[in-house]
Amino acid sequence: KPQAILVSACLLGLPTRYDGRAKHNQKALDYLRQCGMIPVPVCPEQLAGLATPRPMTFFACGDGTDVLDGSGNLINENRIEMSRLFIQGATRTLEIARLAGCQQALFKDGSPSCGVHRICRNGARVAGKGVTSALLQRSGLRVFSEEDL
Ligand code: SF4
Repeated sequence: KPQAILVSACLLGLPTRYDGRAKHNQKALDYLRQCGMIPVPVCPEQLAGLATPRPMTFFACGDGTDVLDGSGNLINENRIEMSRLFIQGATRTLEIARLAGCQQALFKDGSPSCGVHRICRNGARVAGKGVTSALLQRSGLRVFSEEDL
């Protein structure tokens, strides 16, 4: 029976990014086709109720794991605190994973929500996880990025 897998909507070519663009990734599409998996597109930031386009958000302190634990925080380019909304987007994404029976997620690296290996903290690319990736991993899902393909 084909398995469902959560996929960052922007990797599938949907224009969900903060700048209103997509991040179509042919390697990801080829991988999904080869494995015969059914992609369930999610954008945690849209699920948080944020508009598209929206101001860019980055970590001011820590990473997604730290935000979940209350020791990290996210702000947007207008210096507005975003941690609570990003946790909300992560929680809704987890609900979709459960509804669709997904045990894996293929996510866009570098994003404050979907980053798997790296994130952006105060303008620098650093190792760390996005908020949604951290929550899904903590909940037992396997999360990997397009950079792992
Ligand atoms: Fe893509 Fe994730 Fe950013 Fe949404 S939150 S635009 S799915 S990287």
